[in-house]
Amino acid sequence: MSFKKGYVQVYTGNGKGKTTAAIGLAIRALGAGKKVLFLQFMKTNTYSEHKILPNISPNLTIKTIGKPFFVARKEDLDPEIRAQWENKCVIFEPGNPPQEYVDLISQGIEEAKKALQNQEYDLVILDEINVSMYFELAPVKKVLELIEEKSPEVELVLTGRNCPQEIIDRADLVTEMREIKHYYTQGVQARVGIEN
Ligand code: ATP
Ligand code: MG
Repeated sequence: MSFKKGYVQVYTGNGKGKTTAAIGLAIRALGAGKKVLFLQFMKTNTYSEHKILPNISPNLTIKTIGKPFFVARKEDLDPEIRAQWENKCVIFEPGNPPQEYVDLISQGIEEAKKALQNQEYDLVILDEINVSMYFELAPVKKVLELIEEKSPEVELVLTGRNCPQEIIDRADLVTEMREIKHYYTQGVQARVGIEN
């Protein structure tokens, strides 16, 4: 029951709703009997969706790849704080991500590539892949290759702010979530069930 033709969709921009839109699309596709692969880059499975999605359908595979990241110059970080944070996220200097982390992301892209070629899934979502490209963890060239080599029936969704222009040029659908207002400017912290 694959799609007649699969398109390339991008959800980008600085406003809220990119990942939640992708989750919503995954559920809609599952409801239509489609098979979905949901790969989340630069995340660990600490979000509330991870408490529900793995159990809703045998047609859904959801996986997280890597840890959240933090970009900072070494001299700006107190060594003690750095040691504390390193367990939870990957810290690197601008333009200089750790090789082992780049390798991990690259494995994730390879997995996505296989899934896009072998038609095991109808919908493949690469959550935060745009951010991975922006921080040079994932080469834009590799993601373009993955788009070129995908089998035509598979729908591909790429999410994350700062989507590179080459990807936007190649996509069939691009939606920008643009922040008009956000309560974080009033000091509201991320809330369980809404932001995570
Ligand atoms: P969501 O996961 O809620 O759909 P998103 O995928 O569009 O959001 P991301 O860029 O992945 O957004 O950001 C993750 C979360 O961080 C969002 O829920 C967003 O509301 C929140 N957020 C974005 N910018 C800020 C900020 N400057 N300060 C605090 N929280 C923020
Ligand atoms: Mg997101």
